[in-house]
Amino acid sequence: MNVLIYIKIRAGGIIMSKEKGFFAEFKKFIMRGNVIDLAVGVIIGGAFQAIVSSLVEDIVTPLLGIILGKVDFSNLAVTIGDASIGYGKFITAVINFFIMALVIFAIIKAINDVSDRLHKKTDEEPAPATKICPYCKSEIDIEAVKCPHCTSDVE
Ligand SMILES: [Zn+2]
Repeated sequence: MNVLIYIKIRAGGIIMSKEKGFFAEFKKFIMRGNVIDLAVGVIIGGAFQAIVSSLVEDIVTPLLGIILGKVDFSNLAVTIGDASIGYGKFITAVINFFIMALVIFAIIKAINDVSDRLHKKTDEEPAPATKICPYCKSEIDIEAVKCPHCTSDVE
């Protein structure tokens, strides 16, 4: 710390102004908002991960155990020389990955379906209130049968 201060004093204004730029840039980076969004995302993601893990470990895996019978690969291993090849644990990890991916897919799909339904309700465009006269290209009321600008008959 003392050395740093000493260097700063010796170098004078040049380092000070450089640091100002550095910290100004750092402040800009922090204040950008997407850093905060990212932090919130990470926190929510962590909480979401707990839900998914619990759903997989406590609900889906035991249910699959009932359906498929208790299958445990994790003790499968081959010993070659001094090395123990625990391919059973690897198989278990792969199966767990697919169960996890399937559960996440199901959750995301459900969320997307709900948000699609909500968006459809709000995104429906109101019926047009005006049309364009084919003769003078003026904007006229949708129900007009005679154009108020060029007096042409319109449908
Ligand atoms: Zn017209």
